[in-house]
Formats: sequence, structure tokens, C-alpha cells
Amino acid sequence: MGISSIRQYCKNLLRKNKYGLTEDECAAAIQTTCNFFGIPVPVLIRDLTNDKSGQTLIRPKNPNTYYDDVLEYNLKELKALGVSDYIGFSAIITHECAHRVFQNRTLPGPDSGRWEHELLADFFMGVRAGLQQMDITPIRNALACTPGSGTHPLGRFRDEYIGYGHLEGRRHLMNNLLPNTIEEYFQLFLAYRKNHLQDLHEAEMTIY
Ligand SMILES: [Zn+2]
Repeated sequence: MGISSIRQYCKNLLRKNKYGLTEDECAAAIQTTCNFFGIPVPVLIRDLTNDKSGQTLIRPKNPNTYYDDVLEYNLKELKALGVSDYIGFSAIITHECAHRVFQNRTLPGPDSGRWEHELLADFFMGVRAGLQQMDITPIRNALACTPGSGTHPLGRFRDEYIGYGHLEGRRHLMNNLLPNTIEEYFQLFLAYRKNHLQDLHEAEMTIY
């Protein structure tokens, strides 16, 4: 083993100890998530773990193409959100990649469906967890406690939509049914929102 590979090995070990994931595991989680949605891996993936203002988000740029999407992540920020392993990271990346899939859609709701885009991404986090038997309890609990804002819904709605997605994913798995297509899951999301609109609408009205 040469000096540089020893250095890389130590770096990975430290990172694994601190945040629960090596660089390769992050890359694998991103790849499997893109496979789940049937979309290409982002053209640029930026690890901003050591960047003070680094966040975890997707920069879709031109909404009509996947081929300019930039994914940024910060494991330090995610750790504060209860994410400290491969499953938790995969769940977060599922949320971010759902934003990629729906980057060119207008959703119902105030501010071009600002909250709805987040709830849809959370819903898909739940769907995947249900289909692939991922235990996302820590991240779900953490999100449930987040306050609402102009950009993100109240935690209780996030928890609700993750839960509904999980139920649908699990229903397909348990009954040996083929999973829905992404578009069919999207329709389920829209129908659920429509049937549970009043509470959400009232909460949105206090923000917008
Ligand atoms: Zn989001």
C-alpha cells in the first residue's frame, strides 16, 4: 500500500467513524437512488461536509434536463438531522432525487406548490423505504420535529407524507405486487393531498 492510498484509507476510516459513511458508500447510495428513479447520476456531486455553509440540496438549473443537475451534500449537517449511516443517507438522497424527477412540474398549492414539492419528495422517501424495507425511523422522527417555513412544511406534514408513502411501498412489497411506476406513485400523492387538503391548506395560509 503506497503512502497516498494509506492516506486515503485513514481519511475514509475517520469519515466512517465521524459520519457513518465512507466516500464510496456515499457514491453507492447516490447510484442506487438514481437507479430507483431510473435517472442518470448528477453531472456533479459536491461533498461539502467540510464547508461551513455547505448544505444538502439539489441544484436542478435548467428544469428540462437531468444533465446539468448538481447534488451537494454535507454529512455534518445531516448528522444533526439524525443521519449517520448508509440507509439514512440513501433516504435523504431519495428526497433530493425526487426533486430532480419533478423539477419541471408545477404542483398545486401556494408559491407554485413549494410545500407540495417537499412533501412529494418526502412521500418518495417513504415509498422507497417501504419497498426496500429501509428503517428510516431516525430521519423520520427528526423531520417530524422541524418547524415550518416558507421553504419547508411543518414537520407533522412531512411525517404524514413519509408515512403514507411508506404504506404504499409496503403494500406493494407485502402483497408481492409490482411496484407502481414513478408516475403512478405521483398520482397517488396528488389524490392523497386532495383528500387531506383542509389541514394542509390552513397551515399553508398561516405562512403564505
Ligand atoms: Zn427538499
